[in-house]
Amino acid sequence: MYKRARRRYRARGRDERRKKALRTAVWILMIVCIMTVCMVMAMKTKASQAVAAEAKAPETVLAGRKESVIIAARDTASKLLRVGEASKARLEEEAARVIVIDAGHGGMDGGCVFDGVLEKDINRQIAGEVVRKLRDRGYKAELARQGDDYVEKIDRAAYANRNNALLYVSIHQNSCEYAEVSGIETWYGANRASAESRRLAALIQQETVDSTGAVSRELASDSELCVINKSHMPACLIETGFLSNKDEREKLCTPAYRERIAEGIVRGIERYLDPDAGA
Ligand SMILES: [Zn+2]
Repeated sequence: MYKRARRRYRARGRDERRKKALRTAVWILMIVCIMTVCMVMAMKTKASQAVAAEAKAPETVLAGRKESVIIAARDTASKLLRVGEASKARLEEEAARVIVIDAGHGGMDGGCVFDGVLEKDINRQIAGEVVRKLRDRGYKAELARQGDDYVEKIDRAAYANRNNALLYVSIHQNSCEYAEVSGIETWYGANRASAESRRLAALIQQETVDSTGAVSRELASDSELCVINKSHMPACLIETGFLSNKDEREKLCTPAYRERIAEGIVRGIERYLDPDAGA
């Protein structure tokens, strides 16, 4: 009886241990299952989030592009505004600067003289007319020498440089041992604005020839001419006619012909400053 009871007790103990092991296994299995389900759900959520993000991406990119386009347009507009302001400022700055007109020779230096006609006088009369015409058109213009004063060439260029002149135009008359030679020549220097000086010289030469009907002789560079080489701004020197030529000399002595020369010089300056003018 005792032995049977002990066997039963042992058998019950074994059953209990088996049951316990089984319960533990079931728990472990449940935990594994729950963890697996959780992991699968987490992965699914992550994947759907990625899909949603991908689906959303074009919108984001588009929005980004739109923003870039808006920024670029804004930048362009402000750039245009700045360019507009810059050119307006440039025009205002140019309008405030003086155009120096130099009547060649003067005082004790008469220049060339033929039949009692002095170059310095013709130069001064044309230069005065050019200044008047420029002022009438709203430009600031000054003579490099006043009245019949003699001013050193270097001082004329220095005057223009000191006043930060916009342009410098020197007016002279020509002479030649051959009396039949006539016409207009314009010279430009090799100063720091030589390319612009050439453009200025070409326009003045063309407009003055057109205005007077005179012979167009030469447009050339001369590094020896002081006034157009020592000045820092675009500069040229025009020889508006030959005093050694009787016909041209007589024309140069008439206010009407000098007025046509002055008109040509001013038109050349205007076209230089505003390339659209008269185009
Ligand atoms: Zn001269």
